[in-house]
Amino acid sequence: MQQFIDKYNFAGKRAIVRVDFNVPLNEKFEITDDTRIRRAMPTLKKVLAEGGSLIIMSHLGRPKKVDPKFSLKHIVGRVSECLGVPVQFAPDCQKAKAQADALKPGEVLLLENLRYYAEEEGKPRGLAEDASDEEKKAAKAAVKASQKEFVKTLASYADCYINDAFGTAHRAHGSTALIAEYFPNDKMFGYLMEGEIKAIDNVLKNAQRPLTAIIGGSKVSSKLAVLKNLVGKVDNLIIGGGMGYTFIKAKGGKIGQSLHEDELIPDALEIMKEAAERGVNLSLSVATVCGQSFDNDTPRQIFPIDQIPDEWEGMDASPESLKNWREIIMKSKTILWNGPVGVFELPNFAKGTLQIAQDLADATAQGAYTLVGGGDSVAAVTQMGFADKVSYVSTGGGAMLEAIEGKILPGIAAIQD
Ligand code: AMP
Repeated sequence: MQQFIDKYNFAGKRAIVRVDFNVPLNEKFEITDDTRIRRAMPTLKKVLAEGGSLIIMSHLGRPKKVDPKFSLKHIVGRVSECLGVPVQFAPDCQKAKAQADALKPGEVLLLENLRYYAEEEGKPRGLAEDASDEEKKAAKAAVKASQKEFVKTLASYADCYINDAFGTAHRAHGSTALIAEYFPNDKMFGYLMEGEIKAIDNVLKNAQRPLTAIIGGSKVSSKLAVLKNLVGKVDNLIIGGGMGYTFIKAKGGKIGQSLHEDELIPDALEIMKEAAERGVNLSLSVATVCGQSFDNDTPRQIFPIDQIPDEWEGMDASPESLKNWREIIMKSKTILWNGPVGVFELPNFAKGTLQIAQDLADATAQGAYTLVGGGDSVAAVTQMGFADKVSYVSTGGGAMLEAIEGKILPGIAAIQD
């Protein structure tokens, strides 16, 4: 049964907390963005303030074996600074029992990267490329069997389990899902997870209407399930960025060299048909800022979205499209935004995406509920200094997308069961 962190008293308890400290590091192993560490602080500090002790666990990067580049020791100092107490380090997450048992109230132990072990993901490693199906099956069964011991060892360190790692909630890994069964009455979401779940519910379940989704990014294929789920829920669906050109081509427009996926034209047609049948306002770009090659200094020119000359490529939303979208956004009470409406990495083609960030901040000031997720959208909001001017900035890329596809995430289900 799920407990709520607010009601749980951690006095004298050892809490094992799955966080997402998968932070970017530079070549000197310095943290270049500590957002994920800071966002876990309310949960970690509550445990310490009540006289509990902490065993913190995370992955970092995608090591396939023990690799010092991906060691969590690089972040011990920063975690310690944020918590305001010293942080001990366990150099092997499977051999930390003695250190965990020795923790006194208020003390903190950070475990080494969980993904040094294949058991965390439960996927075999090091299989020969020409391995037979039999061999693959046997390797999978072996790692699944040893995964139980791996998870049991982690669970043996603590009295209660907190999952505060939304960024990995869409993975059924040892530390994100399987471990929960060892804490039937002492498992809970941390504050960050609770916030993320509520934010998604505010959009998908309890939205004030009109509800608008702005979906951008490169490809229809990567967000097809998102679009299909949202078209059944929203009042307005704004489709921008690279993925918009597949829709324009599906409608018979000329898109020049713009990014598109011919094989997804049937899906685009189906989404447009469903939107029409349901009375959903599906809004595409009307004109686009084009370039002649994919670089920042290429000449720029605006063309109608369906009349892009052969040698030009659509790279950002035009002022006219942005004006239409702003009108929709400012009339909305709930807005979800995921994905840039142009090539955000190139400053000359980032204006559209930055304008959407501005629109969301303005809509929020007017009382709308706004949820922003996905790398470029979050970067745009942050670059404008608007992270506090929208209602919620999600920490999960893939996890947020799967949640808005309507999937139940394993990390969430394991706590709620
Ligand atoms: P996603 O990861 O699906 O959210 O897509 C983000 C990527 O979409 C960014 O790298 C953008 O550069 C890219 N993108 C957005 N608009 C365009 C466009 N018109 N043409 C090419 N790439 C685009």
